[in-house]
Amino acid sequence: MKVFKTSQSLAEYLSNETRPLGMVPTMGALHLGHLSLIERALQENQSVLISIFVNPTQFNDKNDLINYPNSIDEDLLQIEKISEKILVYLPKADDVYGNIVEAKSFDLAGLDQMMEGEKRSGHFQGVATVVAHFLKTFSPDRAYFGEKDFQQLLIIDHINRSLKLKTKIIGCPVVREKDGLAMSSRNSLLTADQRKQASKLFEGLQIAKSNAKKVPYRSLKIMVNAFFEKHNKITLDYFIIADPNTLKEIDLEQPVHQGRAFIAAYLGKIRLIDNLDMS
Ligand code: AMP
Repeated sequence: MKVFKTSQSLAEYLSNETRPLGMVPTMGALHLGHLSLIERALQENQSVLISIFVNPTQFNDKNDLINYPNSIDEDLLQIEKISEKILVYLPKADDVYGNIVEAKSFDLAGLDQMMEGEKRSGHFQGVATVVAHFLKTFSPDRAYFGEKDFQQLLIIDHINRSLKLKTKIIGCPVVREKDGLAMSSRNSLLTADQRKQASKLFEGLQIAKSNAKKVPYRSLKIMVNAFFEKHNKITLDYFIIADPNTLKEIDLEQPVHQGRAFIAAYLGKIRLIDNLDMS
């Protein structure tokens, strides 16, 4: 494993590194979801670059940023165990942004107007800023992102195409705990009781999936809302079924034949998201 703290030293090193290069951008506190992306990148590329950077401009809530889990020493140990040849980019904010830490303004084709974009103002401009910067600076041949953050994956694919970058964006399936909870760095912030309740997000998605073709979407919404009203330790933020390409909400009056269900919910102050293909 080689750790680089500056983009300049990394870019210099990469100019002699064997291609193809696969990149896995992360915010650290690595879990099996991240590791699935890293394993895939190792299978498909000669060289693999992991970035670990808690990007301040994508946090609309200061407390969320302050409390975001950090386990850099463990992360590096985990990476070293997977493969010695992995490159790690571990920058401070000034290496990414210079003196002014702020998001740029990208045309995200409306993909940031709903769900996470609507609830977390400016979040996707922050994500787009840092990911576009990484893709431009390191020109990976492939970059790997999880379907866990499906809206983010679509937005990154959009900016990659609109900026005509050379990277292929690869979406990877959601990795789950045994009880269905999607793995997330934020899960470590849950109390034992909240952790038990957290599997209800996936249960809600499954209720939707098992009824999707039987009843209109409007009735599914009522079912899922009723499910979360019964479990009052978890507060539903939204449940939406949308077209997986445009993220536009589907017709309320029709059963769901194609669509992806998206859910966000609070356990105390911790906000979790998940999604599931309904077809
Ligand atoms: P993060 O560190 O949360 O920014 O995540 C880094 C990358 O890992 C993103 O592309 C996420 O979508 C992906 N990821 C996070 N959790 C999972 C999961 N449970 N399964 C698959 N990919 C994931």
